[in-house]
Amino acid sequence: MPELPEVETVRRMLEVSVRGRTIASVRLSGAKLRSRIAPSLPSRLRRRRVTGVRRHGKYLLIDLDEDLTLLSHLGMSGRWLFSTDGRPAPLPHVHVRLAFADGSSLRFQDPRRFGMLRLVRRDRLWRDPSLAVLGPDPFASPPAGEWLHRLARGARVSVKNFLLDQRRLAGIGNIYASEILHRGRVDPRRRAGALGREEWNAVAAEIPRVLGEAIERMGTTFRSYRTLWNEPGGYGEKLLVYDRAGEPCRRCGTPIKRIVQGQRSTYFCPRCQGRKASRAPARS
Ligand SMILES: [Zn+2]
Repeated sequence: MPELPEVETVRRMLEVSVRGRTIASVRLSGAKLRSRIAPSLPSRLRRRRVTGVRRHGKYLLIDLDEDLTLLSHLGMSGRWLFSTDGRPAPLPHVHVRLAFADGSSLRFQDPRRFGMLRLVRRDRLWRDPSLAVLGPDPFASPPAGEWLHRLARGARVSVKNFLLDQRRLAGIGNIYASEILHRGRVDPRRRAGALGREEWNAVAAEIPRVLGEAIERMGTTFRSYRTLWNEPGGYGEKLLVYDRAGEPCRRCGTPIKRIVQGQRSTYFCPRCQGRKASRAPARS
């Protein structure tokens, strides 16, 4: 599932490619995504100009003139694909096609159909039920360790699942939660409320670093994520623990372990992230 770095990559590309373009026509597949796309969407989007593209967590906010914002979530497998060609090669699973007045087009492809697309009046944007529940964006405003420490007070959930909770921090998903905890040398199984201030400082320091490095490499592609130009992200080869079960830890050589938390895989180094992690000598 695309996480903050993947969505930010798409946002930056949308900002460059579609900002200033005027929508001439819109075609819907009629298929239901996570929720139904309003049948009035094409007529409401026609003649609107894209004025900017923002992001909060995993949501894209495509601003249009007339104080409208097209709210979009990529879900499990959604992709925005841009083409300057007036007649781009047909693709399966395209649920929305925006044709711009200059002949370019933007298509929303989503095989698994967990994506979301909704037109919202800008003055009501932050009251939209999908955005209203979200915590702060940890890349736009990186949290301080002290803030996380306070937020986690009394939390019985594991620190891994704490980081995944979009109501606390919006944008971190399964891949980057494992990476952040590994780099902060925190055992993902520990209760969030049991971490000390220094441990939260370590986690807080790694959040913008990991996200920033992933954005620089246009995110991580496992199965379906693609950039606006239909290219995979390049961060996969930089991952320290995610999807590396049994392979040696890049820091100490211990085999990386995979466990399941909340029905999702977590990867960590039992030595670097064990109870005695701070005392364990590093091999390199
Ligand atoms: Zn290790």
